[in-house]
Amino acid sequence: MKQIRIAIDGPASSGKSTVAKIIANNLGYTYLDTGAMYRSATYLALKNHLTEKDTPSILSQLDKNPISFQRSTTGLQKVFVGETDVTDIIRDNDVTNNVSWVAAISEVREKLVEQQRLIAKDGAIIMDGRDIGTVVLPDAELKIFLVASVDERAERRYKENLEKGITTDLESLKKEIAERDYKDSHRKVSPLKAANDAIVFDTTGISIEGVVEFISEKAKKIIDMH
Ligand code: C5P
Repeated sequence: MKQIRIAIDGPASSGKSTVAKIIANNLGYTYLDTGAMYRSATYLALKNHLTEKDTPSILSQLDKNPISFQRSTTGLQKVFVGETDVTDIIRDNDVTNNVSWVAAISEVREKLVEQQRLIAKDGAIIMDGRDIGTVVLPDAELKIFLVASVDERAERRYKENLEKGITTDLESLKKEIAERDYKDSHRKVSPLKAANDAIVFDTTGISIEGVVEFISEKAKKIIDMH
């Protein structure tokens, strides 16, 4: 059976990682959360008090502390920077509010994209991010671009946080999401945008199961064709 590459892009909190994880599990594919890699680079920058002007130091930090993914005993994906488990800390506000400037550094992107392509080289991969269909895997057999209104995305994030026992201010979430989208879509290198051959899918009002079904059907058609 043909093993394809699936690229899922879209703005912040559009449900990419939730659906990508489920589909990867159903197909027995590798799932790569590229956002976690940019978040890990941001964690290293903040930990070492580095700014945009310190690109060489950010790069050397990344060399000294390679980003890796491991599965926990309960099957969850864990993110490591060197020997440090950063799975939770890379979701902190501090990282979220700084990730856009780190992700706008072209040298950081080059380094991470190289690693992403290496992980994808054997196929059977589903990768989510902002530039997967446009830059990382322009030949991916299936490209999906998920969108949803800012209100809906903020509400989803609000509920997810509540489930984790964290209370957040809904209006601040809306602002944070809109700001990050703006920065990600207006940067010079690899801005957030749909590839010309991507299927744009608006998930506003659609359940996780509905999105999973939509993408899985498209994937199965391509897999069966080969
Ligand atoms: O997907 P997530 O929200 O975790 O991504 C965090 C940030 O990483 C994004 O806001 C964006 O700045 C950056 N990113 C990127 N390219 C990707 C994935 C994420 O620039 N492929």
